[in-house]
Amino acid sequence: MTDPIIDLQNIRREFAAGDTIVVALDDLSLSIQPGEMVAIIGQSGSGKSTLLNILGCLDRPTSGAYRVAGKNVSELDADALAALRREHFGFIFQRYNLLGDLTAAANVEIPAVYAGLNARERRTRANALLERLGVGTRGGHRPNQLSGGQQQRVSIARALINGAEVILADEPTGALDRRSGEEVLKILKELHREGRTIIIVTHDADVAARAERIIELRDGKIVSDRRTGTAGVSEPVARTAWDSGAGWTGALGRLREASRMALVAMAAHRLRAFLTMLGIIIGIAAVSSVVALGNASQRKVLSDISSLGTNTIEVFPGKDFGDARAGKIKTLVLDDARALDRQGFIAGVTPTVSTSTTVRYRGNESNVLVNGVGESYFQVKGAKLAKGRLFDADAVRNIERQAVIDDNTRKTFFADDQTSGIGRVIWLGKVPCRIVGVIAQQQGGFGSNQNLSVYLPYTTVQAQFTGGRALRSILLRISDEISTNLAQDAVTTLLTQRHNTRDFVILNTDDIRRTITSTTQTLAFLVAAIAVISLVVGGIGVMNIMLVSVSERISEIGVRMAVGARRSDILQQFLVEATLISSIGGIAGILIAVLLGVAINVAVPGFEVSYSPFSIGAAFLTSTGIGIAFGFFPARRAAFLDPVVALSRD
Ligand code: ADP
Ligand code: MG
Repeated sequence: MTDPIIDLQNIRREFAAGDTIVVALDDLSLSIQPGEMVAIIGQSGSGKSTLLNILGCLDRPTSGAYRVAGKNVSELDADALAALRREHFGFIFQRYNLLGDLTAAANVEIPAVYAGLNARERRTRANALLERLGVGTRGGHRPNQLSGGQQQRVSIARALINGAEVILADEPTGALDRRSGEEVLKILKELHREGRTIIIVTHDADVAARAERIIELRDGKIVSDRRTGTAGVSEPVARTAWDSGAGWTGALGRLREASRMALVAMAAHRLRAFLTMLGIIIGIAAVSSVVALGNASQRKVLSDISSLGTNTIEVFPGKDFGDARAGKIKTLVLDDARALDRQGFIAGVTPTVSTSTTVRYRGNESNVLVNGVGESYFQVKGAKLAKGRLFDADAVRNIERQAVIDDNTRKTFFADDQTSGIGRVIWLGKVPCRIVGVIAQQQGGFGSNQNLSVYLPYTTVQAQFTGGRALRSILLRISDEISTNLAQDAVTTLLTQRHNTRDFVILNTDDIRRTITSTTQTLAFLVAAIAVISLVVGGIGVMNIMLVSVSERISEIGVRMAVGARRSDILQQFLVEATLISSIGGIAGILIAVLLGVAINVAVPGFEVSYSPFSIGAAFLTSTGIGIAFGFFPARRAAFLDPVVALSRD
């Protein structure tokens, strides 16, 4: 006699049922030789399935020793048990337990996937088995397109794909009609003749009669053990062994398989997958576009400010910005400008005055803002000449009536004029002025609003319009050697001395820039915080749906474990699914954000919403990370399910 392939010593299996303990197997000892065909019979509740589950390493005994081919099973960890199930056992269930989302052929291939067999060989093997079992033409069908008998043949093919020294069948004919049942038994008999060990659980005496050994259970004990035929064939089946899914290629193959499974699962629940994604899509789209918009508006504001010119400060009359009386305050005068001009640290002084009047040209008339400025005003303000020339220091000194118009004025009066107005005489109120130049429209800065502006020497404006010596402002260009802040202090001291009071305010472009930068940064931080919250909510949505998905697919998980999936395989499958959902959602969110950015760029001129590869990459990684982070808990829960518990869930 050879060594037994299966050897049970004093096996006891108890179940806690409420306060009481049910003893399903009671001090059971049994050994089975390789190549035997054994039927286990007994009434319902006698412990047959419990025994079979222990034999198949789906369940562990409460006490007693179980050896498979001499190896003590109680010393094996979850993965080693999975390996045993994968490579030594083949399970056939009463209810076939095929995965409904997969084709017959794909169902057959599952154990080979976990064993690390490459795709081509898997396919060949699965097709050959289906052929042999008489369902060769049904490989592409889904289980619900097959009859019960056909499904059971597919499940036998699945049991055989990894070789299966030992076939464990729990009521394999229980759900079949007589004829199909007969055919399944014929197949089992044939497998037995090949040298496989066959263990069939049945309550049907006719079925049991096909075996060579019948073991009868009652209340978890063996009450009879009869041999009805000759012992098994002399030459037991040789076990096929391959790399068993270990190593690089095996792991990669399983990852590919997990991704395929995740896609299949998502395809089977499209709406749900989409709704799950929606949270991520919205979150990522919101984060990306808000960050990009924030950057764009900050860039725009800063560029607008820098168009105001650098290293300049402007002094206005009034106690504070927005002083309602500022227009009436006449304290800032030309003498102040002259005094400032004498300071060494000031490179240029431009007094400004302004008034509004009407402008007339050949019967057209419009309101206009008349700005009286110095010759260096344009340079300090960063204005660009579009046509003609600017007026010079002589023009200012000589109070000449030379006008530089802005682009709005040109458009209003000289749209059709070849000269753009250069050399024409316009009437500002009652004062005729000759146009010498046109300055270009400047985004955000110069002449960006709809008003018309005309620039004259300030001396001319004072002489012809405002009279008096009061100024609207004094624009100062600070020499490069001195910091703006220092200059500002010096100007403050000087003017306070001259006025005996502080009746002016100073606008420093650096200050504005700093204020705006820090404001937008604060805003960006706030928005980012909100966006992060929305992403967390999206992630919780993913987790929630994955938990639902896991509990919906518990029996699938059970089947996968029964055919040899490792915990890591199950973990991977669900993790990949969560990650795929999130990353696809992330990609969709990025696309939406980019489209939104393009739309804004088209709709709002001067706004430059752009996405760097870095920010796109970051958004994508974030979505993927969310999938991994929030998918982990559900996936782990699936991976740590008890195989029997999972299998028995219907
Ligand atoms: P059979 O397959 O012969 O019908 P089982 O092996 O399924 O019998 O069950 C044997 C006994 O163990 C029964 O009394 C059953 O109620 C009990 N039992 C089986 N599984 C569990 C379980 N998970 N929890 C509690 N009791 C169980
Ligand atoms: Mg049973």
